[in-house]
Amino acid sequence: NEVVLEARGLTKHFRVRSGLRGLARRGPRPVVHAVDDVTLRLRRGTVTAVVGESGSGKSTIARLLAQLYPATGGELLLDGKDARAKGGRAFRAYCRDVQMIFQDPFGSLNPVHTVRYHLTRALRIHGRGGSNAAELETALTGLLGRVHLTPAARYLDVFPHELSGGQRQRVAIARAMAAQPRVLLADEPVSMLDVSIRLGILNLLRDLKEGMRLAILYITHDIASARYFADETMVMYAGRLVEGGDSETVTQRPAHPYTQLLIASAPDPDRIAEGVGPTAAPPADPDAALPAALAGGGDDAHAVAEHEAAVVAEAEAENDAPGEPPSLITPPAGCRFHPRCPKAMARCRTEAPPRFAVADDQWAACWLYEGRPLAPDLTDGPG
Ligand code: ATP
Ligand code: SF4
Ligand code: MG
Repeated sequence: NEVVLEARGLTKHFRVRSGLRGLARRGPRPVVHAVDDVTLRLRRGTVTAVVGESGSGKSTIARLLAQLYPATGGELLLDGKDARAKGGRAFRAYCRDVQMIFQDPFGSLNPVHTVRYHLTRALRIHGRGGSNAAELETALTGLLGRVHLTPAARYLDVFPHELSGGQRQRVAIARAMAAQPRVLLADEPVSMLDVSIRLGILNLLRDLKEGMRLAILYITHDIASARYFADETMVMYAGRLVEGGDSETVTQRPAHPYTQLLIASAPDPDRIAEGVGPTAAPPADPDAALPAALAGGGDDAHAVAEHEAAVVAEAEAENDAPGEPPSLITPPAGCRFHPRCPKAMARCRTEAPPRFAVADDQWAACWLYEGRPLAPDLTDGPG
């Protein structure tokens, strides 16, 4: 399947305030290495999962791909062409092609507006609201039908609080579909939902993938759901992608020691297939502080600034206790996993491993696979 959106060497370093908020401290401001040198491709009609623990940089990748804020480095290509924001028509087209849904469907819908308002606004922004009331109504009904909220009349004039979490997430998905996007960035779309309805939402996203040939980025901390839902899976650790490939291969024969640890500590991988999945909420969720304005596509610059302020305290509270994810302010040199890796060797402490091909459909950034060829997606062109 052809590549729609591609990131090459994508990097995001946040400069944060040090010390108590509001009190200036001398010296350079610390830098959070949230995302480092991330290369990935999203393909038409394909779900690509990014799996990682809390704070590993998953949401930052999604926001970089959505261009909610600029990258510190790296390239972003849509259909093989440089897509970095330059404003104007090209950027508006990008914002239409690349839509995002969030973890908290309540936070992303404005509580004072009805479903009709949210969807009408989205249709109008993208010029798809039709030229009269009847055409608008048809478009609204079509959108709700696509997310299986039928009959539409039952849902159009209700407020977000009158809907269940799953219904709200369906409305958020419908709003994203109003743009007729080609890429959907789904940042933990089911992790805040009741376990009994998670599967329904994932199946809906799968239908959209197939029906609209969407390229979906599925962000999750739950590797079992990636196996169930994603075609390709990539594993993220401390701001870097450490393994990737076919979902079945990566989850059944994990090559990277971190992926092996993740799978060993994951709840029963078959439970997701029964619609159960892990119940533990992810700890310390930066999205919880995501202002509605950002989630709703409002004043991005202001909202991002507020969001940054909200996560500073969290970033600074990090430490490197053994067995814990490392601080991204002073990430470990070499392989970032080396302090926790049972197989670490001397060079792991000083040299970051490149991506080695461990199978036809799998790569791992780990010195254990030295001698294998480098993974092809580091060297070939798009496609
Ligand atoms: P979770 O599973 O908890 O959602 P995540 O993998 O999505 O975690 P990110 O939200 O991408 O992680 O955060 C990665 C790192 O970057 C964290 O250390 C976080 O504190 C930091 N970070 C994220 N956004 C900002 C920001 N705007 N300013 C400063 N630091 C940030
Ligand atoms: Fe472990 Fe070394 Fe591989 Fe990193 S590169 S995962 S430290 S063996
Ligand atoms: Mg996140």
